[in-house]
Amino acid sequence: MSRSARLAAVAALAIVFAAGTSGRPASAQAPTSGGPVPPALLDDLAVAYKILAMEGIIDAYGHVSVRHPTSPNRYLMSRSLGPALVTPADIMEFDLDSTPIDPKGRNAVLERFIHGEIYRARPDVMVVVHSHAPSVVPFSITQVPLRPVFHMSTFLWKGVPVWDSRSVKHPDAAALLVRNGDMGKSLAAALGDKPVALLRGHGNVVVGPSLPVTVRQTIYTEVNARLLLAALGLGGPVTYISPEEGAAVDKTPGDVMRGWELWKRKALAE
Ligand code: MN
Repeated sequence: MSRSARLAAVAALAIVFAAGTSGRPASAQAPTSGGPVPPALLDDLAVAYKILAMEGIIDAYGHVSVRHPTSPNRYLMSRSLGPALVTPADIMEFDLDSTPIDPKGRNAVLERFIHGEIYRARPDVMVVVHSHAPSVVPFSITQVPLRPVFHMSTFLWKGVPVWDSRSVKHPDAAALLVRNGDMGKSLAAALGDKPVALLRGHGNVVVGPSLPVTVRQTIYTEVNARLLLAALGLGGPVTYISPEEGAAVDKTPGDVMRGWELWKRKALAE
């Protein structure tokens, strides 16, 4: 038996075994839950939506997710709902194909594939934000790169890739939104190992290791874009944060919780 025939036989056997007593192939079974999630994490995820709404980063649209803390192949994200309204009860669980685990009649957001495919491609990422942050969009539709100009935004020093939905050969691509796994995979590939990527004519994704860090970087990506637009409007050469400066700040991240605690208090008071 050739190697490929042997592999095919093993695969066929695996499907038979996986089908088990249900009589269905494994792929047709609904995905199972990754297990219970600490209520404090669901609270913080709901707060992250409120913070980003308060800061003008997400309006009626945009979403934040966290990877499941004990099941890396699952993630958690709100149902399709205006971000300022999100509560822990609105948080749904998904597998990395972005199939909801137990929707309970709730609608999942169309662009959830952004999240599933980034978690699949980036084991280091624990949080994904997708927004239509308005100030970043000009850098996705011109040849001017989004580069750091401000000490709170030095994390952009490795570069900010721009992903164009038209680069995906899929009938859905013309409608701009990341509405399937192929488009999510393409976006995740464009993001590479960076913390931020822009979506041409659309918005951005910001990824990171925790809610406090990623929310902060989402806010300061927008602030940096605003400052750079202002500087370019003044004219003349712009002095950017250098790669050496960016790398140096990476080693001394500062007090991340100070911003998080303040934004959380303000968002919950609104
Ligand atoms: Mn979008």
